[in-house]
Amino acid sequence: MSQHVDVLQMARDQLAVAARYLNLDEGLHEVLSRPKRQIIVNFPVVMDNGEVQVFEGYRVQHNTSRGPTKGGIRYHPDVDVSETTALAMWMTWKCAVVNIPYGGAKGSVKVDTKLLSKRELEKLTRRFASEINIIVGERSDIPAPDIGTNAQVMAWIMDTFSMQSGYTMPGVVTGKPLEMGGSQGRVEATGRGVVVAAGEACRMLGMNFDGAKVVVQGFGNVGSVAARLAEEQGATVVGVSDARGAIYNPNGLPIAELSQKYAGRDGGIIEYPDCDKITNEELLALDCDMLFPSAISAQITGENAGNIKAKLVVEGANGPTTPDADHILSDRGIMVVPDVLANAGGVVVSYFEWVQDLQNFFWEEDEVNKKLERIMKHSFAQVYATMQQHKTDMRTAAYIIGVKRVADATV
Ligand code: GLU
Repeated sequence: MSQHVDVLQMARDQLAVAARYLNLDEGLHEVLSRPKRQIIVNFPVVMDNGEVQVFEGYRVQHNTSRGPTKGGIRYHPDVDVSETTALAMWMTWKCAVVNIPYGGAKGSVKVDTKLLSKRELEKLTRRFASEINIIVGERSDIPAPDIGTNAQVMAWIMDTFSMQSGYTMPGVVTGKPLEMGGSQGRVEATGRGVVVAAGEACRMLGMNFDGAKVVVQGFGNVGSVAARLAEEQGATVVGVSDARGAIYNPNGLPIAELSQKYAGRDGGIIEYPDCDKITNEELLALDCDMLFPSAISAQITGENAGNIKAKLVVEGANGPTTPDADHILSDRGIMVVPDVLANAGGVVVSYFEWVQDLQNFFWEEDEVNKKLERIMKHSFAQVYATMQQHKTDMRTAAYIIGVKRVADATV
């Protein structure tokens, strides 16, 4: 669905709303609506059959006023430089909303990883890392996992940088394996943050998290962890989906079993027997208390926002709700905890990982989780208070805080 929506325009429209509230100088607004740097690289990979295939990749740095740029690397067949720019811009606001000292960046490679062998994936990753090393570095721009990439991919990127510099350089990427300077709690951090944000929102709305019915769109790193932690905290996860389809059971789905036996396998979670198979549109319209869109962008649109039955939407994905859908949800009294707050847990623990790498001093998981929870709760409270002060929605409130922090840091 995302190919029909211009996500960069979406990101610019969101910025424009905040700019009006902040009475932002026109020139500064113009600066913030564009990326600072974009590179497009085309690079060859010798495939297992001996043939050369050329891949296109991007690294976009949106803003460096508050520190080095930070953001994931995405491997997906539908990426382009415009979407990558929107994602970089969202990273800038996200880092500012939770007040960590970074600007936003994003990278991507147009590739369907399902069609690659592990060896091809490693070669593609190492070559892409070499191509973007002119702007990436532990003090300038620090990648992390995103859709289609994981700790193994980060390990290859770190190793490529370490080979080029002649010494081990863990601070150049986050989301690495623990053995290579990764942080405790990083894999779960985004999903954990989503559940903390959902808990805070429930408290504000007078809703019980315990016993709430939850629907999770997407069963990747974010959705699967958010579903598991929500279940652990007493919620009933009634619907989930992955790229192959969606499943529903009003009595609850066994998240651990889905993760261990079905997710990431050929057939995916729809192979699980004790449930109804439904479409993505039916999933979004399920009767539930909370919806965690944790897949890709532009999923809740002007067309389907009227069908959403959840009272609370907590955005695990980046950009899952379009601006016209935002209006509809707000008119219908549905609260949306926006991506730049709700899914910031990942980059917060990335920040912790980077700090640990630079200091060569590592923390225990409990310490990581406690510090993450404190930042999520504090940021949530600030956004909530700003929302009430300006009588607006949570996305606009988060943007008011984030954009102001970036604007104030720009001389
Ligand atoms: N890709 C994640 C995001 O969109 C994490 C970025 C990071 O940790 O740098 O927030």
